[in-house]
Amino acid sequence: MLEIEYWWLIALPVFFALGWLAARVDIKHVLSETRSLPVAYFKGLNYLLNGETNQAVDVYVDIARHHAETIELQFTLGHLFRRRGELERAIRMHQKLLVRRELTITQKQTAQFELALDFMQAGLFDRAESLLTELADTDYARQARIELLGVYQQEKAWAKAIETAQQLRDERHTYQHEIAQFYCELASQGALRSEPAAARGYLQKAVAEHRKCARANMILADLEINAGNIDAAIEAWLKIESQEPLYIALAARGLLAAYDAQGRAEDGTKLLLGLLRQYPELDVLDLAYERLLTEQGLLATHEFVRERLKAHPTMPSLRKALEAHLLVAPDDQKVELEVIVKLLHDATREQTMYRCTHCGFKAKQYFWHCPACAEWETFPPVRGT
Ligand SMILES: [Zn+2]
Repeated sequence: MLEIEYWWLIALPVFFALGWLAARVDIKHVLSETRSLPVAYFKGLNYLLNGETNQAVDVYVDIARHHAETIELQFTLGHLFRRRGELERAIRMHQKLLVRRELTITQKQTAQFELALDFMQAGLFDRAESLLTELADTDYARQARIELLGVYQQEKAWAKAIETAQQLRDERHTYQHEIAQFYCELASQGALRSEPAAARGYLQKAVAEHRKCARANMILADLEINAGNIDAAIEAWLKIESQEPLYIALAARGLLAAYDAQGRAEDGTKLLLGLLRQYPELDVLDLAYERLLTEQGLLATHEFVRERLKAHPTMPSLRKALEAHLLVAPDDQKVELEVIVKLLHDATREQTMYRCTHCGFKAKQYFWHCPACAEWETFPPVRGT
């Protein structure tokens, strides 16, 4: 009995001491955490603001190692990894987050959305698609659809792209141009697979969606040519004038070949010159020059380009005028003129390219869908603009 009382006399102070020590250690730990965390955070933030992503990642990886409970930090890191192109690390980070039990519903959706973005950037579109589709009834629905629209375009799944764009459309963004272009893509696929009836159906839908879809009439004209209906093809091409006249430039060669095939070459040229007078911006000067040279000879062509230069004094007009001038100039002037023409060609090389108005990408070829920024109808059909 007495032994037990003695034992208590010793044990009690020891317990008190241990409790005091534990509390102190805990408080010290918390204090050091609250002190060290903001400093490190701001250090990382500073790196981020200076665009020094690598250093920021180092700082945040270090914090994350000591504070596994900081979920938002894991999100930041995952985002940074993706931005740095370290997709494997980003995917691992978001996958780990996704299986954590303490995540709120919103955090779980965020992790799923971020993981989908990782997969997209890694080119794993099917995986991205299934994650994004699952987000359809969540707060991420709209963002997920916007990304899905990108996935479907990458996969050339145009029917799904149309459905998604229709779900996304609102007063701010009607997706009218995009949907019409998706129908045109379906029509082109149909034409390639020798399914002209299906292709025609898609083209009608394209024009119903966007009345001014010039591309629909261009594809229709090609279908008519393939079916041997030259009149119908010409009719389709001419409809472009009432849509967006400058797009005739993209169809001009086909249109004139159709006139030639009917034995109406001169009518074709006359039409072309008439259009050029009516729409001075129309990018058909090269073609008009070629036609005049073969049909009416050097003097008429020279006269035409000189008048054109007066009426529409641009670099392409000047270039053509000099080219014609070189052909009619006396021999002793040809050497200098050749140098001038060559220098002018070099100096205005950019004016022979189509340019995306959205991202500035330049190309010799015309694109309906910019290969650089993936926007639709952002290339004006006039080179050098
Ligand atoms: Zn672009």
